[in-house]
Amino acid sequence: MSADTLLSDCRVPVLGICAYSGTGKTTLLLKLLPELNRRGLKVAVVKHAHHNFEVDKPGKDSFELRKAGADQMLIGSSNRRALMMERPVEGDPDLKELLAMIDQSRIDMILVEGFKKLALPKLELHRAEVGKPFVFTHDPLIQAIACDEATRLPSDCTLPQLSINDVDGIADFIQRFIAQWTPVTPAPLGPSCDSVERKQLSVNQGVARILSKVTPLSETESLPLTQALGRVLAQDAISPINVPQHTNSAMDGYAIAHGDADEFKVVGEVFAGHAYDGTVAAGEAVKIMTGAPLPAGADTVIMRELATEQDGRVRFEGAIEPGQNVRQAGEDIRTGATALTQGARISAAEMGLLASLGLAQPTVWRRPKVAIFSTGDEVCAPEAPLKQNCIFDANRFSLHGMLAQLGCEVIDLGIIEDNEDAMVTALEQASSQADVVISSGGVSVGDADFIKDALARLGTIDFWKIAMRPGRPLAFGTIGNALFFGLPGNPVAVMISFMQFVQPALRKLAGESHWAPRLVKAVATEPMRSRTGRTEFSRGIATLGAAGQLEVRTTGSQGSGILSSMVQANCLIVIEEAIDLVRPGDAVWVQPFADLM
Ligand code: AMP
Ligand code: MG
Repeated sequence: MSADTLLSDCRVPVLGICAYSGTGKTTLLLKLLPELNRRGLKVAVVKHAHHNFEVDKPGKDSFELRKAGADQMLIGSSNRRALMMERPVEGDPDLKELLAMIDQSRIDMILVEGFKKLALPKLELHRAEVGKPFVFTHDPLIQAIACDEATRLPSDCTLPQLSINDVDGIADFIQRFIAQWTPVTPAPLGPSCDSVERKQLSVNQGVARILSKVTPLSETESLPLTQALGRVLAQDAISPINVPQHTNSAMDGYAIAHGDADEFKVVGEVFAGHAYDGTVAAGEAVKIMTGAPLPAGADTVIMRELATEQDGRVRFEGAIEPGQNVRQAGEDIRTGATALTQGARISAAEMGLLASLGLAQPTVWRRPKVAIFSTGDEVCAPEAPLKQNCIFDANRFSLHGMLAQLGCEVIDLGIIEDNEDAMVTALEQASSQADVVISSGGVSVGDADFIKDALARLGTIDFWKIAMRPGRPLAFGTIGNALFFGLPGNPVAVMISFMQFVQPALRKLAGESHWAPRLVKAVATEPMRSRTGRTEFSRGIATLGAAGQLEVRTTGSQGSGILSSMVQANCLIVIEEAIDLVRPGDAVWVQPFADLM
């Protein structure tokens, strides 16, 4: 496990103190802790211990209760609490899990004693008399070395050197370490920069490469609002008016000029959509309805329920705050303010907002045109009877749905037979009409090579192995001015690669600014397996747990052809590259379908 993975949930700096036994780790910590406390630092210590260590004493209730079968024994007093938990694991204790048990809101840092082999930043301690080799020579995460006078460091050692007896100097080093520390930024979809050397691309690297090839469309059109749903604004929506337009009443009641009077003469009334012509003087009130403009001179409204009106005069119960129940002109949006920025996608709320400003004809980018086709001699249109040994074409329809939802114009080229000339004709025709061409099937390694050969004749294309499942083979390139995506054939893989790679590209093309699917954390309620080195996208069902926390389970069998799993699911569970096993209770990343389709 890398340091980033091990420490990804830590909100305070973690520093290991590592040395061979006999060097004096604990002796140093006993002197260091008071010094760190003196400097105002609260420190948690995690210590590696022998598998059957004991902190409790026979005869104590907590000891006996645990021995009698309490799986978790939590004992608390007004000063102290201790949790003893039986948690057998294979090999060494799980440091990530132990770190998660610490209340990080109450401390400034964590010191870890032992766990010498784990990937975390460490301070190495060394004494010549112990007669052991250095750790730093093969551990790049050692930050500094503290040794005794007899130690001879190799001449090429560039680490900061401290004296193992200089508690002050070591405390200084720790304070510098804390000052320089930054929390691990989570990257559930792997690194996005290309400087990381890898055999297969991470999902983020794939997305970054694709986005670097996408130039947003430049043509715009002006549309009536009702046709603008799902389109992307090409200009900032600047408000030509104040919203609300006039200072008005938030209540049915009486408008007055705030002052000393305790009885008011009712001089008139005003309804929404109308105005009161006169000016309200001290000791006068105007009956007013919700939304009606506040008469000149008035600044305060008292609700009707608190008023007693008799013989043209009105009195009010309770205290009156100046300005109460009044909505100021421009309180929501001022004239000239940017109500929506260009690049915003217009949904129902945006339609309402634009209408409320009188912007009935927004300027939007034109829709991306996307051509889709399926490949494979076994693939059969669902409108026709199913032939022997064939399958119905699912992919063109899930693609159609996702594209329509994204506001794209879909050009459906149907099913193209597995033959190179047919493919060349189809691709040429598609690329001349569309901004983006998407095919499914025919890009895996063992496949008949028609698409590959056709693309080689028409454009530039890369075949990428993305470290993910499902959806590994992905072809991406250009044919003429069009972008080309060759998605895998399996129906689930098609949808997931569309969500991860095609959707960000289409959104950028459509003029939408800075889009990425949202990732949220949920607690796994069942074990989930993956393999380290690839991102696993499992179909998940997220629900709210009894305590209000988001929980997630899989839809069951995760075969990449099982489309019903996509129907049952409401999210994708993203199991990071570094993780091979998710245990019940672990937090996992989740991408809600609300964002993806
Ligand atoms: P391929 O990548 O062409 O080897 O296809 C992988 C699997 O997906 C095969 O089992 C195909 O039959 C299946 N498949 C390919 N295209 C489609 C499609 N349009 N609809 C449903 N299944 C498909
Ligand atoms: Mg095929």
